[in-house]
Amino acid sequence: MSEPMKIIDGKAIAAELRAELKEKIDLLERKPGLAVVIVGEDPASKIYVRNKVKACAELGIRSYTYELSETSTQEEVEALLDKLGTQEEVDGILLQLPLPRHLNAEAACAHIPVEKDVDGFSAYNLGLLMRNRAEIVACTPLGVMKLLQREGICLEGKHAVILGRSETVGKPMAMLLLNANATVTVCHSRTKDLKAICREADILVSAVGIAKFVTRDMVKEGAVVVDVGMNRDENGKLCGDVDFENVKDITSHITPVPGGVGPMTITMLTYNTYLRAIDKRGRVE
Ligand code: NAP
Repeated sequence: MSEPMKIIDGKAIAAELRAELKEKIDLLERKPGLAVVIVGEDPASKIYVRNKVKACAELGIRSYTYELSETSTQEEVEALLDKLGTQEEVDGILLQLPLPRHLNAEAACAHIPVEKDVDGFSAYNLGLLMRNRAEIVACTPLGVMKLLQREGICLEGKHAVILGRSETVGKPMAMLLLNANATVTVCHSRTKDLKAICREADILVSAVGIAKFVTRDMVKEGAVVVDVGMNRDENGKLCGDVDFENVKDITSHITPVPGGVGPMTITMLTYNTYLRAIDKRGRVE
């Protein structure tokens, strides 16, 4: 008889990881410092920043928030990042995205010194990830890997299918799973026969951003389903990409939304800030 389905409790795993991290930070004489830069008034970004600052405070990480106005110029944003790059007390710099439309995020991020990149978005860090030597890994994909590890899910030789190819989620996710010896297929909006590919997946990671995108007929019996999506349903309620209620009973493991990948992302930001502070190389342990 097959094992019963398990709902992965990302909130509990994230709390466990934060407790472990706090013990390590408590031992540090000099506490890690994170600078968070937010430009403009995007309400979702403001909430994310508030949550990040709160998570840092709970772990003893010093955080410094810089709020720039919606009308800031590219030069002003870059000058602030350059200044933070030279400050001793700042171990990590996070530029909250998206930026207002008139600003170039890629050019701005290039002003974060690679040794203070806590998101793993720098070209240098992405390149190291290709070589399986990443110092810092993007928070969300890293959080997914930690969830799979904590659940004892074997990746070697498994077919992992990723829906989405963004630089922040899909692509680094693919590289991490490949580095963990899974056989990886990456799907996107031009993929043909997407449903058939998904049905081949032992591990299905969805990062598309469309509510109820992954339906029951796309999931193989016993698959592990990880839902990165954060969407609103027809009633305005937070939901993922997966039609959770109709899919869950055929999976072996599934992450809910909320309470799955989401809580891991901020936890991984604190972890990456810690790694920057101790100048340790941020491999997936
Ligand atoms: P994104 O940059 O918009 O990328 C979405 C990806 O989905 C793209 O690669 C796109 O393909 C693909 N896609 C869109 N429609 C598709 C379709 N019909 N069939 C197949 N693929 C399709 O989004 P993202 O930043 O990666 O985020 C994805 C989701 O994860 C969003 O809901 C976001 O809110 C969520 N998210 C959650 C967390 C968390 O902490 N839980 C963190 C980050 C993001 P193309 O490349 O061909 O356009």
